[in-house]
Amino acid sequence: MRRWLALFRKPEGRAARHPHTLEIVFALSGHPSRTLRINLDSLRKAAIVAGVAIFGWFSATFYVAYSHISNMEAIARADAQAEKIAALKASNSRLAEDRQAMGQHMISLQHRVEQLATKVHGLVNGAKERFPVEQDRRASVGGPAIPVTEANASSLMQGELSLLDERLASLLPQLESTLEREVARPVGMPVEGELRVSSNFGLRSNPFGRGHEFHSGMDFPGDIGTPVKATAPGTVDEAGHGGAIGNFVAIEHGYGYRSVYGHLSRVLVKPGEIISKGQTLGLLGNTGRSSGPHLHYALQYKGRAINPAPYVEQ
Ligand SMILES: [Zn+2]
Repeated sequence: MRRWLALFRKPEGRAARHPHTLEIVFALSGHPSRTLRINLDSLRKAAIVAGVAIFGWFSATFYVAYSHISNMEAIARADAQAEKIAALKASNSRLAEDRQAMGQHMISLQHRVEQLATKVHGLVNGAKERFPVEQDRRASVGGPAIPVTEANASSLMQGELSLLDERLASLLPQLESTLEREVARPVGMPVEGELRVSSNFGLRSNPFGRGHEFHSGMDFPGDIGTPVKATAPGTVDEAGHGGAIGNFVAIEHGYGYRSVYGHLSRVLVKPGEIISKGQTLGLLGNTGRSSGPHLHYALQYKGRAINPAPYVEQ
């Protein structure tokens, strides 16, 4: 094999000066022999040319195939990108719709918060009108309100949210304290049945003799043993015998309010006891400085006697 391949090598030295040929002799008995002469130099050259051509063809084919694959990849990448862009566009439009809906929701929320503020305001103002003694300690309600439209909703959204947050943060404690005060305020009748008053709050003529006296409460006549009820929840401050007022119960309701029930025939609660609204505190009687069976009902606000009439009639 090696020797065979040596035939095709470029001749060196002296041999290089002569044409390098391969002679194949075909001899058949009875026939003249024939010789096939192959010029090995030409064959080598032809082989080189063929090799170069084959290499060129391979390279070209490889290049074409490679660029084809690259193109396919580029097309696939472009397709994927187009899909991504389409998805982004869709999600953008969904976001825009969401923002729109959120804006609407916020407007309605803002509206409802304003309604709540108005209600709290009304509650506070109504209480001011009905119970003027409380006026000095009313906290003001309300605040700035920025109108929200559909057009500016998305840009104001963040600001609106914090505004709503602040608004609710200030409104809820206000509402809570307003409601607590509503609950603590002693309203209604301390005895059941039809409202009968034998003596009102204020100056009156002395029922036991001459002259006038200041009457610090309201008197409700009734049968001895009629249940006397708390007009608001609270804590029993005093319970027992109080001289002119007879057997009595005094209850602290909070928010400055205190109620007193006098001339009782029996006291049914003890100091420190927690009382609910409507709970029976004792029984109507005629003890102390009393001209007949009745309940002496007195209200105090921050230590000052106030007229119970507007509270009783609520
Ligand atoms: Zn009285």
